[in-house]
Amino acid sequence: MRSRTNGKTEAAPSSLEGSPAGSPEGPPCDVLVVGGGVIGLVTAWRAAQRGLAVTVVDPEPGGGAAQVAAGMLAAVTELHYGEQTLLGLNLASARRYPDFAAELTEASGQDIGYRACGTLAVALDADDRAHLRDLHALQVRSGLTSEWLNGRECRRLEPMLAPGVRGGLRVDGDHQVDPRRLAAALVVACERAGVRFTRAWAQALSVVRDRATGVVLADGTALAAGQTVLAGGSLSGRLAGVPEEVTAPVRPVKGQVLRLTVPRRYAPFLSRTVRAVVRGSHVYLVPRVSGELVVGATSEELGWDTTVTAGGVYELLRDAHELVPGITELPLTETRAGLRPGSPDNAPLLGPTALAGLHLATGHHRNGILLTPVTGDVMAHALTTGELPDEAAAFTPRRFTSAHLNSSKHLTELSA
Ligand SMILES: Cc1cc2nc3c(=O)[nH]c(=O)nc-3n(C[C@H](O)[C@H](O)[C@H](O)COP(=O)(O)OP(=O)(O)OC[C@H]3O[C@@H](n4cnc5c(N)ncnc54)[C@H](O)[C@@H]3O)c2cc1C
Repeated sequence: MRSRTNGKTEAAPSSLEGSPAGSPEGPPCDVLVVGGGVIGLVTAWRAAQRGLAVTVVDPEPGGGAAQVAAGMLAAVTELHYGEQTLLGLNLASARRYPDFAAELTEASGQDIGYRACGTLAVALDADDRAHLRDLHALQVRSGLTSEWLNGRECRRLEPMLAPGVRGGLRVDGDHQVDPRRLAAALVVACERAGVRFTRAWAQALSVVRDRATGVVLADGTALAAGQTVLAGGSLSGRLAGVPEEVTAPVRPVKGQVLRLTVPRRYAPFLSRTVRAVVRGSHVYLVPRVSGELVVGATSEELGWDTTVTAGGVYELLRDAHELVPGITELPLTETRAGLRPGSPDNAPLLGPTALAGLHLATGHHRNGILLTPVTGDVMAHALTTGELPDEAAAFTPRRFTSAHLNSSKHLTELSA
């Protein structure tokens, strides 16, 4: 594996690449999941529930982008032109959330902060209003439920909104969950379901006679498995030993987020998620029952850099303040940056690859928390049957195989 920070990479020793080097540790498991973020964890949990022997490899399971994410379950408000296929999967996952939250709470004994609070997307000027009107039209054409409100109606719902709000979309189906609680609960649910954790970095995929057979850890230990799932988030494309034609085309998309605290005397400050596009930048405020108010997020293509910058914090506070002026009274309790695992079409890569024994569960980009429930079900299905269920057929990693090869060839030709 290569270094985690700032995109400075250290190539794995060539002796490990693609070889079953190292001494095997213990009996092979059925499924080895590389990456214990929410996607790897939900895959492991659901696979273990189906009777498979599962191991998760991650130095810090439950970490990853969920430590930063806001936790909006925004299938409707995050709809973009050209992403109608993804919309189907997003809606399928949103529908699962109430039962998923109840089952995970029962399995882990932990509340995951699922809150059916709805969302209000507002416009501050004529351009934002036109943008929101377009989104509303697209939502209606896509059969989604959202209601156009004028400025006064928006402020009646959320009195802390700025007087200048011109109108907005009320989306009662876009809810929220607390991603940190979600990740922690998944770790416990996995442990209780018999999933084993190896707290280490996977250095290289082992491939024997055109079949993935597990991984080799940084200390040379080999872990053998019938099937290996690569769920390494933004690092998914960087595991050594993965043949080029099945390498995940995933890149890091940096997001900076602020956490403020609403003192009890101000509650309820906001009763639902409030979001807007301000001068072309997206800003949202997600209020939790605990008093935490998450303000996010920047979207930056800067490799593996996770520095919190003055400019990022300034822009988020400036835009959030235009939306809800009262935020300047609140204590600023945390600033943090994380990496979304972006894919070329902003949709996840799920299920078997062209290399026997290797699956991908990655590329969830800005919707990984929303897509956690459906990903668990889809991956468990793929691991037990070898095939993707119909609802996820469009998300096969194979959709990129030839395009990926062609673009690599093109780049090679350009640099020659
Ligand atoms: C600022 C921000 C805001 C967001 N807001 C939302 C939101 O409101 N709603 C929403 O649905 N989504 C949101 N997301 C997206 C969501 O957080 C991600 O899509 C999701 O968390 C990705 O989960 P993952 O498990 O695929 O990857 P990650 O969380 O990145 O986890 C990957 C794990 O793999 C491990 N790993 C990688 N390589 C190896 C290796 N070789 N060996 C061992 N371990 C390895 C890492 O240590 C890490 O723990 C947001 C993301 C960011 C950054």
